[in-house]
Amino acid sequence: MSVTSLDNHLHRFCGGRYQQAVETVTIRLSGMAAEVERGMYRCSKCGDEQRTVEQREAAEKAALERIRSEHQLLAPKEIRQLRESIGLTAVQLGELLYGVPKGVVEGWERGRYLQNREADALLRSLRDRATLERRAAKAGVALPDPDLLSGIPAEGGAPSARASALEPAPEPAPEPAPDAAATS
Ligand SMILES: [Zn+2]
Repeated sequence: MSVTSLDNHLHRFCGGRYQQAVETVTIRLSGMAAEVERGMYRCSKCGDEQRTVEQREAAEKAALERIRSEHQLLAPKEIRQLRESIGLTAVQLGELLYGVPKGVVEGWERGRYLQNREADALLRSLRDRATLERRAAKAGVALPDPDLLSGIPAEGGAPSARASALEPAPEPAPEPAPDAAATS
């Protein structure tokens, strides 16, 4: 049924037939790498090699899952749950992560893209309310009231007032001045 299967397909150039084979390849994604087995077709007579789109995609998916597991990166569902628990759109979450495009955030949530380790650490840091509020203020993103999202009535006072009272002084900018090297 698959149009792209080359199994036992005639190689007109030499008269041989393609047979299924497997190769081990290293696939790099988001600055990380994994070794996976990738299916291919090899001509039994001349050794010509062919790889279908399906074979490439299957190997990339396997690599993505292996890298996510080895680096213990957030799963697509966890990213979506994190975003929804804060009450942000994909656009707003991207803005909190220094301008990650909406399509990339959606790709993470659908498992099509893999966040790199820095993005994963940033995502996790947003679970901390004080960090979240500081980053939202810097990015100019208005956060919904957490009491309205949780569905659980707040007990014993106003948590948002308490959080802002504990808010530390603004951090200095993390980036060094670009002309710092010139002063020597
Ligand atoms: Zn051949």
